[in-house]
Amino acid sequence: MNDMLRREAISRVGITIAIDGPAGSGKSTVSKELASRLGIGYLDTGAMYRALTWYVLDRGIDWSDGEAVARAAQEMPLRMDSDPADPHVWIGQREVTKQIREPRIALEIKHVSTNLDVRAWMAGDQRRRMMEARLGGSGMIAEGRDITTVVCPDADVRVLLLADQEARLRRRTLELYGDATAEHMEIVRAQVEGRDRADAEVSEFMVAAPGVSTVDSTGLDVRGVCEAIIRLVDEDLARRDA
Ligand code: C5P
Repeated sequence: MNDMLRREAISRVGITIAIDGPAGSGKSTVSKELASRLGIGYLDTGAMYRALTWYVLDRGIDWSDGEAVARAAQEMPLRMDSDPADPHVWIGQREVTKQIREPRIALEIKHVSTNLDVRAWMAGDQRRRMMEARLGGSGMIAEGRDITTVVCPDADVRVLLLADQEARLRRRTLELYGDATAEHMEIVRAQVEGRDRADAEVSEFMVAAPGVSTVDSTGLDVRGVCEAIIRLVDEDLARRDA
């Protein structure tokens, strides 16, 4: 199917695409690229956890008060646009797109990502965003940790994106430092391993759930991974006869 026919098919039936995977698997680059090519929205669920971390720090809420942190998720006036070419995040009138990528956020994010009430709220909100886009004659690709299982187990296309540990570290280091020297790789190794360990306590993100397709991005470029996922999209559209 060519890009134009695929876009037309999607506008007839809508689509939800769920991508899970660990840090550095290439989820966000691939998801943005796919969303642009398919003409659908992009939801960076990690940005929502990051935004909540920023908000809790900004409000001076005590991390040990789990209930207050969960309340903050519901109260936070979060706005995100779903444009994959240039995604932005605001809290109220304040743009926090850059701030949520600061290392101080990655250091504290475990307090929100391991809070089960926060996760339940996030899952509901993320699912609503995906379903609204699908019903609106378009669609959404969401990437994160438990999108194929908890947030949207009935997504039209579900993918677990994996890559070997060194490939993941290399990608993350390049993203953060613009190079992949041994020194920078070691700093990032400590951060990524710590975060993966905390995440693994509350979500399974290295093993595909039944019905979820695994795509291994080790040794593939962005285009190669996108092609593999587009084949799954075409199979889904053919199944739904769009
Ligand atoms: O994807 P990103 O690195 O921006 O995610 C930041 C953190 O947010 C993850 O390490 C994880 O703790 C949390 N997260 C999550 N569930 C998601 C997305 C992100 O717990 N669906």
